[in-house]
Amino acid sequence: MQIYLSRPDITEDEIEAVCEVLHSPNLSLGPKLPEFEQAFAEYIGSRRAVAVSSGTSGLHLCLLAMGIGPGDEVVTTPFTFIASATSIMMAGASPVFVDIDPVSLNIDAAGVESAIGDKTRAILPVEVFGNPAGFDEICHVARKHDVPVIEDSCEALGSALNGKKAGTFGTVGVFAFYPNKQITTGEGGMILTDDDFLADMCVSLRNQGRGKAGGWLGHERLGYNFRLSDINCALGIVQLSRIEQIKAKRRQVAEWYQEMLAEDQRLIVPREAKGCDVSWFVFVVRLSEGFTLEHRNIVLEAMTERGIQVSNYFPPVHLQPFMAEKFGYKQGDFPVTESVSKSTIALPFYNNLGRDQVAIVCKTLKEVLDRIL
Ligand SMILES: *Cc1c(COP(=O)(O)O)cnc(C)c1O
Repeated sequence: MQIYLSRPDITEDEIEAVCEVLHSPNLSLGPKLPEFEQAFAEYIGSRRAVAVSSGTSGLHLCLLAMGIGPGDEVVTTPFTFIASATSIMMAGASPVFVDIDPVSLNIDAAGVESAIGDKTRAILPVEVFGNPAGFDEICHVARKHDVPVIEDSCEALGSALNGKKAGTFGTVGVFAFYPNKQITTGEGGMILTDDDFLADMCVSLRNQGRGKAGGWLGHERLGYNFRLSDINCALGIVQLSRIEQIKAKRRQVAEWYQEMLAEDQRLIVPREAKGCDVSWFVFVVRLSEGFTLEHRNIVLEAMTERGIQVSNYFPPVHLQPFMAEKFGYKQGDFPVTESVSKSTIALPFYNNLGRDQVAIVCKTLKEVLDRIL
């Protein structure tokens, strides 16, 4: 028996919607694209939404649309999925890392303030694991220094802080629809903004630099093919229409974990901070102080051997070998990130995970911990 780390949740409605596109002549740049964008903009509460081929290409285009390139610096977190940092490098700019807050696991606002310098062209914070805690302070710092924010909300669809939705804190916000995210289009992403110039620029850049006039073979700038097909958009429309149900299902799974693991002093169990409405992306527990990286790795291995898929979200970005080599980073550069990274265990987490399965995961985890103590 296997309990998976993640599974998509596709109903007959999604399958029908995709088949409908396949029976139509418009497989790309058809009516499902603006329909998905409009529904998304409405859900988030932004003026504009631009669908793209992935979260990564969305971040990349936001940086390009802002004119960020070689010689520029963008402040971001080393505790994230690699694409937050590599998108900055794809644009030709340099990531400047700032360590995280040990509780929220998001980039530390005070650290952001001290990292802002002459070359800083943007701040790229991430709602790690869907948690929006601290985004008011981060954006306050950005406004104070007049630096735009590219909000990497790829893990936070449906999260909110004091009623303000993830994706609306930044000058631009980016979402992703890989199958392990809250909603999926197979592959896909979405850029959200109230800024027409940036939105129009992203529309052009995702479509080979085509302009509003000039037609199919008129290219106004160096662009990319980062389009999202109508097949993906049709899937996204149905998934997005179910977002409240999806959020509720994931919240239920998170609550089961919280309830079953609460008493265990060996673990740090994630909780919603004050003012936060977390749309749960993953459920990541941590080993308490006193446990080592070796302990954590033994737990990951033992769980896997017992048929329970787990993962180490996230290894520090700055210590990925190619990053360390390029920028000269070493152990100790970002101690909070490094110590958190050594202790994380991402447990199986998806919409249709049952209470019985959660109970098996928790029982197995406790047995494994008993053994290594
Ligand atoms: C998933 C994710 C991305 C990138 O999304 P893709 O669609 O896989 O390119 C970017 N940033 C973070 C924090 C993510 O979790």
